[in-house]
Amino acid sequence: MIEDPLSLFKASLEGNDWGTAILVIDTKNKDFQFILKNSIFERLESDFDLLFFLKNKISNNDFNTEVIYKTDGKVLETSFGHFEFPSESNQKQYSKFFIRDITIKQKQEEEIAWRLRFELGVASSIQILIQKPSIRESLPQALYQLLYFTEMDSIFFLKYIANDENDKFEIWVNERKSTEYPLLPKKFQTINWRKEGINRWIHKLKKGKIIYLTKDKALPKEQWYFQESKAETILFIPVKFENQFLGIMGFQKYIPNFVIHHENLLIYQTVSRWMGLFVQRDKDLTELNRYKSTLESLILERTLDLTRTKEELERAYKAKTEFLAHVSHELRTPLNSIIGFSKLIQLPEEDVTGKEYLQYIYSGGTRLLKMINEILNLMKIESGQIKIQVSEFKPETICRQTLELIQPQANAKGMEIRFFPPIQSKNLRSDSGKIQQILLNLLSNAIKYGDHSYVEFHCEWSDEGVYFSIRDFGPGISEEDQKRIFHSFTRLNDDGKIEGTGLGLSISQGLAEKLGGKIELISHLGEGSTFTLKLSENYK
Ligand code: ADP
Repeated sequence: MIEDPLSLFKASLEGNDWGTAILVIDTKNKDFQFILKNSIFERLESDFDLLFFLKNKISNNDFNTEVIYKTDGKVLETSFGHFEFPSESNQKQYSKFFIRDITIKQKQEEEIAWRLRFELGVASSIQILIQKPSIRESLPQALYQLLYFTEMDSIFFLKYIANDENDKFEIWVNERKSTEYPLLPKKFQTINWRKEGINRWIHKLKKGKIIYLTKDKALPKEQWYFQESKAETILFIPVKFENQFLGIMGFQKYIPNFVIHHENLLIYQTVSRWMGLFVQRDKDLTELNRYKSTLESLILERTLDLTRTKEELERAYKAKTEFLAHVSHELRTPLNSIIGFSKLIQLPEEDVTGKEYLQYIYSGGTRLLKMINEILNLMKIESGQIKIQVSEFKPETICRQTLELIQPQANAKGMEIRFFPPIQSKNLRSDSGKIQQILLNLLSNAIKYGDHSYVEFHCEWSDEGVYFSIRDFGPGISEEDQKRIFHSFTRLNDDGKIEGTGLGLSISQGLAEKLGGKIELISHLGEGSTFTLKLSENYK
C-alpha cells in the first residue's frame, strides 16, 4: 500500500533539532500559509507570536536569519530556505522555515567569550608586573587591569606586616571598577586583624586557603567587616612565596547573592601565585640594593682609608730615606778621617796593646764605612736615583774581571772558584758596572757561607738572555727563608762569626730589576744554593 505522500514527507522532517515548516508565500499580497510543520516546530512555536513575526518578515521581504530572545530566557534562531516548485502562478513562493533552540549554545558562547576576556586580563596584568621594575609602581596598575576584566567590583592588595603580637597589613593597592563602589577604609591598615575577630580568616589564609564568604554566611564577630567595607561578597586569596605569607589579594562584590564560579577561583589563584613571585622578587631586589649601597659606601670608606694610609706611608718613607741619606753622608766624612788617621798613627814597636787597639779602630771603621756605603746604595735604588750606563760587552769579560777582584777573598778562605764561560760568545747590552756589583756580592756570599773547597761560577746564554749562576755547597737556605733574605737587613743565623749587613742581596735584587732582570734562587738545606742573575740580551 502506498502511503499518503504528505505524511511521508512530514515524517522525513523529524529526527533533528530543527523545527521545520513548509510555507507557501503570496509575494504580491505579502501573505503566507503553512503547508506542513514537523513536531519540533510545533513544540517551539508555543508561547511565541509566530504569526506576527512571520507576517512582519514577509511584508518587509526580509528572509535573513534572525535570533529571537524570548521573555522566559530562551533563545531561538530562525531562518528561511526557498526552493523552486512548479506552480501555475508566479505569485507563489515556496519556502522552508526553520526554528532552533540555541539557548544552551548561546550560553556556552557567552561563557567562552567571558573566559577569554578574563584570561586576557590576567595575561595583561602579569605583563605589567614583568615589565615594570618596581612592584609598588606596577602592582596598582596590574591589579586594576585584572579587575577590569573580572566579575568583581573592587580589588585590593594588603601587604602583610607581622610581628609576634599582631597581624597588620599595609594597603598597597585599593582599586574599584567605578566610583560608585566604596574603597577599602584606610583604618583597616591600623587594626590588628588577629584581635578583631577575623583571626579565623588570617589563620586560613596563612595556610594557603582562600576565603570566599558572603555577608549572611559570616560569623557574628565577623559582621563588622562587611559593615565597614560595605561588601556583600568577599574573596580573599593568599599571596605566598614558597612558604612565606606575603599578603592578601582581595576582591569584593557589593550586590547580594553573587556567585563566583569554581573555575574563576582557580584563575584568581593563579594570579596570586604570580604576585607572590613578583612581591618576593621586589623584596629581594630591595635587599640586594641595600647590600650594594652598603658595600659601595664601605668600599669608598676603605679606599679613602687606604689612600690616607698610603700617603702617610709615602711621607714617612720619604722622611726615612732623606734622614738616612743625610746621616750616612754626615757619618762618612768623619769615618774616613778615623780610618785614615788610624793608619797614620805610628806607635812604638813594643806598644802591642796600643797597636791592637789601632787595628780595632781601623777594622771597625772600615766595616762601618762599608755599611754606610751599602745603605746609601740601597737608598739610591729605592728612590730611583740610580743611573744605568749602557754599553756593549761580552759577559765572560765582566765575569773574568769580577773573578780577579774576588780572588783574594777566596784565597783567604782557601777556596777555589770554578768558572764556566759561555759556549757562545756574543755581546750583551747592559750596565757592566752594576752587573759586576751584583756578581761580586753573590760570589762573596758563596765564599762567606759556603763550606766546600770550591764554588762554581757559570755564565751561559739561553733563548731569553744571559744567565750568571753562582753555586755553593754550603748549608743551603730553607724555603721560608728564601723569600726573606732579599729583604734589607735580613741575616739568617747571625751569630757574629760572619761579617755582613744583610743589605747585599736586597741591593743586588734592586739593581737586577733596574737592569730589567732578576735574581732567582734555588736552594735545599744541606745541599747548597744557586743564585742566578738573569738578564735579557738588550737593556730596555
Ligand atoms: P749579608 O751577606 O751582608 O749578611 P746579604 O743580603 O748578602 O747580606 O744576605 C742576607 C742573608 O742571606 C745572609 O746574612 C745569609 O744569612 C743569607 N745568605 C746569603 N747568601 C747565602 C748563601 N750563599 N748561602 C747561605 N746563606 C746565604
